[in-house]
Amino acid sequence: MVELAGLQEVHFNGAPDDSGGQAHSVAPNVVVLSPSALKLETCQLAFLVGHEIVHIARRHFDEDAIALSVFSGKTAQWTHHGEDAMQLADGNFGLALRVSHLWQQQEQEADWLGALLAAQACGCSIKAGALAYFGQDSEFGGGIAAAHAPSAERMRQLLPFTESARRLARMPR
Ligand SMILES: [Zn+2]
Repeated sequence: MVELAGLQEVHFNGAPDDSGGQAHSVAPNVVVLSPSALKLETCQLAFLVGHEIVHIARRHFDEDAIALSVFSGKTAQWTHHGEDAMQLADGNFGLALRVSHLWQQQEQEADWLGALLAAQACGCSIKAGALAYFGQDSEFGGGIAAAHAPSAERMRQLLPFTESARRLARMPR
């Protein structure tokens, strides 16, 4: 999946517990997986990992850093790390509001591209991967600044990609 996404290297770390959600990524190229993520069915885990790899491959951290710098009035080069830029939005609802469209777009992108990565790399259908993952009634995510739409909405947005995923899943690996 890493290679398919055009990345040279991604590091995988284990989280000690589920307090940070099941998976997240850290700039510039780290995917962190919780103990419960590692217990998921193969295709659900493939989707989850694919989603995080898309965040890294699409350089969403950098995109966030730029947007947050612009909207907070900072100069362009004040940071080279997206992580630090994210802290600008902590407790700053006005700023979060101004970049929320970007976060939503990034999450949608990570969902559908992640589902296609899981299809091509692991032969996973949208149904066995993303839809099964969202269908498991998880309590992860949420909060006022959460960029993730409710699971039902995320599932609906993935349906148009079902056929592409089916074709990719059939390709020789
Ligand atoms: Zn995400």
